[in-house]
Amino acid sequence: MGIVDEDIARVRDATDLVSLIGEQVTLKRVGQRYVGLCPFHQEKSPSFGVNPVMNLFHCFGCQKSGDAITWVRDTEHLDFVEAVERLAQRAGVTLRYDDRNQQKDRSRKGRLAEAVGVAIEYYHRLLLDAPEGGAARRYLRSRGFDGDAARQFQLGWSPDGWDTLSRWLQQEKKFSRDDIVGAGLAFVNKANRLQDQFRGRLMFPIHDARGEPAGFGGRALTDEGPKYKNSPETPIYQKSKLLYGLHWAKEAIVARADVVICEGYTDVMAYALAGAPNAIATCGTALADEHVKLLKNLTRNITLAYDSDSAGQGAAAQWYRWEHTYDLSVRVADLPAGQDPGDLWTSDQPKLLASLEHARPFLRFRLDRALGSADLSTLEGRGRAAEVAAAIVAEHPSELVRDQYVMDLAGRLEIDADILRAEVARPKERPRENQPSRNAPPPPDDSAAPPPRPTVVVDRREIDLLRWVIHEPEVVADWIDEPLLLDPVARDAYELLVSTHDFHEALAAAHGATRELLERLAVEEPTTDDERDTLRARLMVNTVFPVAEALRARLLRDDDDRASEIKMDLDALAHAREVGDWVNAQVVAKRLVGWVVDAAHAVAPEVPEMPVVEQAE
Ligand SMILES: [Zn+2]
Repeated sequence: MGIVDEDIARVRDATDLVSLIGEQVTLKRVGQRYVGLCPFHQEKSPSFGVNPVMNLFHCFGCQKSGDAITWVRDTEHLDFVEAVERLAQRAGVTLRYDDRNQQKDRSRKGRLAEAVGVAIEYYHRLLLDAPEGGAARRYLRSRGFDGDAARQFQLGWSPDGWDTLSRWLQQEKKFSRDDIVGAGLAFVNKANRLQDQFRGRLMFPIHDARGEPAGFGGRALTDEGPKYKNSPETPIYQKSKLLYGLHWAKEAIVARADVVICEGYTDVMAYALAGAPNAIATCGTALADEHVKLLKNLTRNITLAYDSDSAGQGAAAQWYRWEHTYDLSVRVADLPAGQDPGDLWTSDQPKLLASLEHARPFLRFRLDRALGSADLSTLEGRGRAAEVAAAIVAEHPSELVRDQYVMDLAGRLEIDADILRAEVARPKERPRENQPSRNAPPPPDDSAAPPPRPTVVVDRREIDLLRWVIHEPEVVADWIDEPLLLDPVARDAYELLVSTHDFHEALAAAHGATRELLERLAVEEPTTDDERDTLRARLMVNTVFPVAEALRARLLRDDDDRASEIKMDLDALAHAREVGDWVNAQVVAKRLVGWVVDAAHAVAPEVPEMPVVEQAE
């Protein structure tokens, strides 16, 4: 593939690793080596070292090590070829490729980036000088941004003509039609003529992580057309991989060990000008897995500077998954309701930085928000608040974290911690769609009612299980059975999955909350660091534990002796799980699965004796 070996070696030799790493990590000389705080894991005293003689780095804390290419790959989330290219550019080495197509592809991308770069300059000059750019300049001033800010962020103005930019690029800069269209700067209209992509808009240039021009976000200055418009997807503009401002925020993100994620371009500018240069924004899309992968190489701490409504309604489960998968810690900036950072920049600048200082952990933020609208002055109000709060706490995947919040809430709501703990652990029941529950609770008193849940809350364990059912059924196929699912929505989804031929058929047959759940699971790949056997055991244990616990409680109530047998298995299971003996855990879990399935089949037809149950294959 790719670059000729000789050139790769030349790039490696030409790169001074100490100065390369020094761009992102503060290094101190100690004897022959340089040491600093490791960017790949959280630490307070330096265990990360660079050996300038061998041109290698190594961390004694997390064992990460490598050369200049590894470094660029890992910190900038680039592939091997991209990393070599980035270093070649830095060291002034011209690369040769052993594959002609690849060489063509690379040089085309280079030309597209060049066209976007020229367009950035062009738009920028018009914003600063052109009389027609007056409206854009006035808008910026009204948002508190002066000429220096416009220069710092290379803002631009796209003229309102049909093809002003396209003509200029072709006539003055000799770019081909193909490159102009390929760069997303224009499109071919019905008359087979180039028409500019952006017209009459305030332009925010977007670069990739290396600082190469990639595209634009353009804001309308009138009410015509969409308020924001971004470059179309091109070979160099892929919105799921781009973050606005990342190339200039990178250093500050590492230095401050925190990244502030905003929703808008002017929010990023506001934070940077206020003294928080570690802010970035997505480019007209929600934060995606690719973005998070890019960011976690720089820091594990994320502060969401979203308008408090969107932060509260964001997919909590996804944030918890990211926290878990990438070892992130997510906080939410303390922004006044209905205001974004750009608003604060014009109205109350001190509050802008304070919003970061007073950022709260994600779960704390969600709880405060829910409790903020509850009436805590009456017993009933506190009870209802406790239910809402317990549902929020229950979504968090860590038992330790859940328990800390249980204790805290118990104090705030003056409710017994054990009762609250049980509420958190209880699988949530809710009426099914189009099927009113027979013993529905009386309609709530409007004045004290908690705010409606933004999205369906489904038991976290069962969601995890379904994720495997959909994406890698062989992990669960030989033991999963319907009675193991307690959550009505999860159970509905499972029934559809096993009664249809493929996922699409199941989805087509699903409605309401079940459909919502399936759609979500379709794009959520399951993740694990476990070996297959351990994973299998862990899933089985997590699934069967609460169900077996519920069965035991029921048998106990009926004075059924089998309750004590199940109790023994549950104890054995808890022990095996605690010591990490997954072989044994799986044996016991399998027995409990048998109990649960047998009992469910025994109850359904209401036969007095335990019937002979066919074992599931
Ligand atoms: Zn490390």
